[in-house]
Amino acid sequence: MTVLNLTEKTEKQIRRAGAEAYPDECCGILLGTEDGDGHVVRSLRPVVNARESGEQYHRFLITAEEMMQAELEARRLGLDIIGFYHSHPDHPAAPSAYDRDHALPFYHYVILRVANGRPEDMTDWRLRLSREAFDAENLKIEP
Ligand SMILES: [Zn+2]
Repeated sequence: MTVLNLTEKTEKQIRRAGAEAYPDECCGILLGTEDGDGHVVRSLRPVVNARESGEQYHRFLITAEEMMQAELEARRLGLDIIGFYHSHPDHPAAPSAYDRDHALPFYHYVILRVANGRPEDMTDWRLRLSREAFDAENLKIEP
């Protein structure tokens, strides 16, 4: 298990995005750096959910074009794309089968549960190399 450090600022940004997108899912890209046995999120790149509107309550999609733009921004800031965040409106903060099918190993997947419009628990996951399952990571919030 590795550690993902979020600053209080980026944690609040994810919570706000989750509340604002409710009852749909919010999503975005985590930009950051490696740090000892884990990663630190330094900046967020919110992404417009590219899923068709009737599916956004339980699906999110980030386009290849958006990934390319995020790469450019990361390079400009001296950061790497270290993962993704999205919200689960009225569902547990755990990856769905859909999330597993669309995830890649190595990246962090931060999931925020939003219940009745209110941001609740936040978790971090990484996909095993076998792609069979996610492992829960140690998510830390720091000033
Ligand atoms: Zn999900």
